[in-house]
Amino acid sequence: MNPEKINESIVQLKIPMSRNPLGKTFSYLLLESKTLIDTGVPTEEAYQGLKDQLAEYNLKPQDIERVIITHLHNDHIGIVETLRDYGAEIWAGAAAKTRQEQMVKEWENLYENTLRELDLFGGQEYRNNITRNRYVFKSDVKPMPIDRYLQDGEKITVGDLELKVIWTPGHSYEHICLLNQAQRILFSGDHVLPKITSHVALYSYRNHDPLNEYLTSLHKVEDIDVDTILPGHEWIFHDLKPRIEQLYRHHRNRLDEMKATLEDCALKTNSENIKETGERWRLR
Ligand SMILES: [Zn+2]
Repeated sequence: MNPEKINESIVQLKIPMSRNPLGKTFSYLLLESKTLIDTGVPTEEAYQGLKDQLAEYNLKPQDIERVIITHLHNDHIGIVETLRDYGAEIWAGAAAKTRQEQMVKEWENLYENTLRELDLFGGQEYRNNITRNRYVFKSDVKPMPIDRYLQDGEKITVGDLELKVIWTPGHSYEHICLLNQAQRILFSGDHVLPKITSHVALYSYRNHDPLNEYLTSLHKVEDIDVDTILPGHEWIFHDLKPRIEQLYRHHRNRLDEMKATLEDCALKTNSENIKETGERWRLR
């Protein structure tokens, strides 16, 4: 895969991710400050891809001075620890601290909680599979070291670029987008992608409302005046607001379908939350 130069300051690196239909994660190289925004999955293939593409700009992984993480998913942070070992600083949104603390706690009870969830929602085959592979849940999970936490609204300067941090929880609680107003560019991570809808997960053992968070975070970026959106996957796109309107419509339709389904079965009383979220967003 070949890197793509966006402008004099920014290069899009394509980090391969085989065995995943997305095929690749984009990592953005900020040339002057030797900064990466996101990395890729933790595989030899991904690392080789990163190395080869950096070499086209006469850089080695050891030259990277910092990595800014949009969110803590494996396909964005896989190579981060290697780069940190080489001396790079790791920066992430402030909510990454809370999220990592939660993750360590959740991991302690993840096996029991997953079984409880499967008992509630069904999935016997998956249940059999995880009981057979219980050892997977035994590893000792430690938070990834983060050197600097970025606050919502904070403006950071990296080389020739000023980036405004926008906290966008939803796809993941700690997700941030980065806005470079001067060049009218938004690094959107996995918050807004050009075709697929970002995965928004609900876990019975965590008390949160991720879809509402996600829709609120879409609202937070919909009026940003930019020409180019640099996402974490798929391809570069240019029409932020129309894409966000599509996403609202998609979720509104899905919420309507869910509401109708719940009303059809004898679960009417439990449909109140869905109804409330659906109505809150109907008017937008
Ligand atoms: Zn991703």
